[in-house]
Formats: sequence, structure tokens, C-alpha cells
Amino acid sequence: MLARKLYYLKRVMKNQWAKKGDLEKLRNKMLRGLLMHAERNVPFYHDLWKKNDVDISKIKTVGDISKLPVITRKDVLENYKSMMAANYQRTHDVSKLTLRATSGTSGNPLEMIFDERANDYLEAVYLRGLMVAGYKPWKPLVYYWWKDFEKRAYNDFGFMNKVYVPCSLSEDEQLKILQSKNTGYVYYYGGILYSIAQKMLRFGIRIDAETVITHAEMITNQMRKRIADAFGVEPFDQYGTTEFNRLAWQCEKREDYHVDADSVIMELGGEGTDVITGLANYMLPMIRYDMGDVIETSDGCSCGRTLPTIKAVKGRKEDMIIMKSGKVFTPADIADAIAPIPDLFKFSVIYLGNSKFRADVVPFKGAKNIEDAVERALKSRLDEDAKIDVSVVDEIPKSKRGKRTFVSVDKDINTV
Ligand SMILES: [Zn+2]
Repeated sequence: MLARKLYYLKRVMKNQWAKKGDLEKLRNKMLRGLLMHAERNVPFYHDLWKKNDVDISKIKTVGDISKLPVITRKDVLENYKSMMAANYQRTHDVSKLTLRATSGTSGNPLEMIFDERANDYLEAVYLRGLMVAGYKPWKPLVYYWWKDFEKRAYNDFGFMNKVYVPCSLSEDEQLKILQSKNTGYVYYYGGILYSIAQKMLRFGIRIDAETVITHAEMITNQMRKRIADAFGVEPFDQYGTTEFNRLAWQCEKREDYHVDADSVIMELGGEGTDVITGLANYMLPMIRYDMGDVIETSDGCSCGRTLPTIKAVKGRKEDMIIMKSGKVFTPADIADAIAPIPDLFKFSVIYLGNSKFRADVVPFKGAKNIEDAVERALKSRLDEDAKIDVSVVDEIPKSKRGKRTFVSVDKDINTV
């Protein structure tokens, strides 16, 4: 509903500058409403909290939330039906609600269902981060995406249009679209755009942009720098997940990421991984969900917004690299080390355990000694005893949804 979305947009635009006490009051109120709803209407939480002896009436503030048990993706998949709110199932046509499925790279896809009110609210929150990044609804976005577009009525009035770049295309084909249909406004997966930027810098191709927004893939400082050099503007990065929509975004300072604290509670667990509670969705409430991304904490942004901040997303918990010496490196550490190599088009580094790595690389034509350059760059970041096996390959595959894994841990080593 457009009117409700606009009403929410006005409210959330204000929230980013709210006094700290007011923001906390709002969050506490949203949390209490959600918990009462979940206990009354969602069998899964009702039973879980009873089993754990949790008295919901004693949870009055966001700070009290740690008294509730953490849930995992497995819990959601196994208890899916009983996680849906019974009252919403009675009063809503579930088949007409917004459905977003996770990619299912780690097993079965998870189908998230959002009620209409939550969907409008989350879209307004989403638009806030885009608008801070300079998005203008009347300027078409060059948009890399995995699904075909469904045209909306307002597109005919020149509102929120998109130049679609299908994720099935190669980087070379994508670059042609970016050149021929440049609108100055780019919304792209961060890692894929890095490879395109590498190509632009290597061959002196210029595409002037007003605004570049990256999302959906981990991006490091060096990757961001290459994109900034290619497009002439520093990108705004955003962190989001299918389960909650967007979680955090960079403001005009691009120092840190502001958390969408009026739609989610982000806690950082013991290993620095995020545990998320979605405050808006009453249809399928997600309360203390172990998201599993490793987050670097921040001291705050100088822009003056009161929304809390995080410094960076460093990769998945299961992709942390533990060397023989016990030293730990994040996927971001590895990607950052090799991203500045000018001859490097695409890469994928896999940790095999025991301080051994395999690096598959796609260099540009005419590149000399790329193997040495990659090995040297990685060794300068890692322990001296790291063994790195670099192979030149023709292509690094993308997922069906157009994502590429840049750094990962061989899953077999965890089970040995
Ligand atoms: Zn800021």
C-alpha cells in the first residue's frame, strides 16, 4: 500500500536522527509488542520460552533480550509451520503475502513470509538507506539481479525504473550494458562490480557515475577502492539478508555502517557473529536468529545519526581461516590482500586446512607472472609457512543468483 509506505518513509527518515533516548524507547516498545504477539500467537516461541523458563513480562528493554534463547536456521526449517503466527494465518491469505526465499547455498532454501504491514515498513526502511546514498526514484538504476523484472504500474510514470543486467551474463557482456545504458546510478553486487572495475581500470574504460551502491556480497576496503577508481565515486555499501531485508548501510561519510535499528536488533555474539531480531515481521517472527556473519565493531560515525554502527562485515563464521599456528584470518583479510593486483580479473581462494590454500585466478590477457603476484600478496598477509597453490583458470563459476564466493573454507576439513 503506497500511502502506508510513504507514511513509514517519513517516520523512518526521522528515526535516523532521533535522540538516543527516543530511539531506545521506540525499540523497546517494538520489542515488547513483538514478544507479546509471539508468545500468544506463535506456537514455536510459546513452547521454546516455556521450556527455557523465560518470563516474557520480565523482558522490558532491548538490553534484556539476551535472556531469550538463540535460534538457528535448522530450528526455523524444522519448525517452519509452528513459527508462523496462528492469528495471521487465520486472517490473511498466506499465498498473497510477500515471499522471499534464501538461496539455499547451505542446504534447503528458507522461505520467508512477510505480512503486508511489515513489507511496507521494511521497504520504507530500505528506501532510507538508498536515499542517503543519493538514489533518486526518477533516475533509472542500473540493476544487477537474478530474477526477471515484474513491471509495476508506477514504472510507466518514470518512477523507480531499472536498467536490468541479468546475472547470467558474463562480466564482459555486463560491461557493455553499463557502457551503453549508463544512467549514472548503479546498484550492484559488490564482488561482481569489483571484477568489472578491474577490467575498466586495466583497459582504460571510463563510466561516470553519480552514485554506486553495492550490496549482497562481502566487499573489502581494497575492492571498494578499485570500484571508486573505476567509477570516479566512492561506493556506498549495504549489508542485508533475505531473512530480514537490509540490516545496515553506509552514509555519506562511508566510515561505518548504520544499523537499521528501528527494524532490527543486531547483537554481536561471542565470536563476533551477529544474532538478529526482526522487529517488524509478525507473520513469521525471527527472534534472536543466529545469522552467522562475523562483524567488526565500530566506535561510531561522525555524521551525527543516532542509528548504531558496525565497522565491517568480515565474512561467514564457517569461512574463518584458522592457520596451523592458531592465528585466525577472515575472508576479508584474504580478499583485501590480492584485490589491488591490476592483472587480476576474478579470483576464488579456498582454504584447505593446515595453512594450505588453493587460489583459482582469471587474469587479463597478456598478464605476466600472475601466479607469483598472487602468491606474494597472500604470503605478505598470512603466516610465512602458508602454502599457496595458484592456478590460472578460464572462469570462476557464479551461483544461480549471480554471486561468487571469493574466499571460503573447504567444508570437508571441518568434518575430518
Ligand atoms: Zn554516518
